[in-house]
Amino acid sequence: MLVRLRHGLASDELGPLLALCRELGYSARFLDEGRRLLELSGRGDRTHRTRLEDHPHVVEVVDAGDSHELHGRGAGRPDTIVRVGGACFGGGQAAIAAGPCSVEDYDRLLRLARGVQECGVTILRGGAYKPRTSPYSFQGLGVVGLEMLAAVRAETGIAIVTEVLDPRDVERVAQVADWIQIGTRSATNYPLLVEVGRAGKPVLLKRGFGATVREFQLSAEYVLNTGNEQVVLCERGVRSYDSTTRNLLDIGAVAHLAEATHLPVIVDPSHAAGRADLVLRLARAGLAAGADGLIVEVHDEPANAKSDGQQAISLEQLRELTHDAQAVLALDSRALVPGAGPLKGSQLEREGTDSITRTEPIQ
Ligand code: PEP
Ligand code: MN
Repeated sequence: MLVRLRHGLASDELGPLLALCRELGYSARFLDEGRRLLELSGRGDRTHRTRLEDHPHVVEVVDAGDSHELHGRGAGRPDTIVRVGGACFGGGQAAIAAGPCSVEDYDRLLRLARGVQECGVTILRGGAYKPRTSPYSFQGLGVVGLEMLAAVRAETGIAIVTEVLDPRDVERVAQVADWIQIGTRSATNYPLLVEVGRAGKPVLLKRGFGATVREFQLSAEYVLNTGNEQVVLCERGVRSYDSTTRNLLDIGAVAHLAEATHLPVIVDPSHAAGRADLVLRLARAGLAAGADGLIVEVHDEPANAKSDGQQAISLEQLRELTHDAQAVLALDSRALVPGAGPLKGSQLEREGTDSITRTEPIQ
């Protein structure tokens, strides 16, 4: 581990810090004459990094060395593949979840489930519990919404991803969901992260809208630390000074996380854009940056949607999105699993056929 210390520490200040390092099992040596760069050798433990970060004499842990955290891509660690129904995220495989922002009524949910299935999408999104900025906005149908999701699942065989807001509802949501969503507003609700981790279902963890990448990784760590490794990270945009888009999609974070963690990373272009007309472009950008999939809001009557109608794409646009996703993924020999049908000629032409290698879905 490599640790940077505060400037001008006296010997009697350094002594106790060096003693702590020895106590943690490290041998320590300074790499510079100014005694600010401290190299610690020894068996790392993932609790040591934050222990040192919290120390008043430490500016930063420059390199965590062996004390890697659970999300980290240790040497030779293969990608974690998260399976949701028949869909796979990670290890060169990607998938798409699509559906309305909220569960509104049974007939619409069933219609949309069948519609997204026709586009090759095997995971239906839809919130029964809605985290709304205003308490006066539609809050979701709650238990009734969960029952609708369960009924649509039974009717169509589609897998379900839905959000849980309250640790007390985790068990109930886990009975219906194939994949449990933790929303941006809950990313630092640590008791919820732990409770969802313990439910033993795959977890969709969204990045807090004000969270640094490191804070996002540490939220994931709360889930992973329960022993649940089935975690998919989701970049959905962070708050910025510009209101052109609802949030600022952090493509750099997607590219970084694809390298830094063994966990799959997906992009939510809908909440990033806040506008239906930008969703397709952001979806393509996310996959091009290394995302292992997408979660997208779809509606058949956006003007009547109970939430987020302005960012909902149509089923026709979803079809285009799934075809484009295949083309972008094929650029680096990845594929949608399950696939979304053959690429259309027009899409192939638009993407450039030369560089496309068609890959069969990995079973
Ligand atoms: C949602 O998926 O509808 C949602 C509320 O997302 P987020 O938590 O990213 O805002
Ligand atoms: Mn929404």
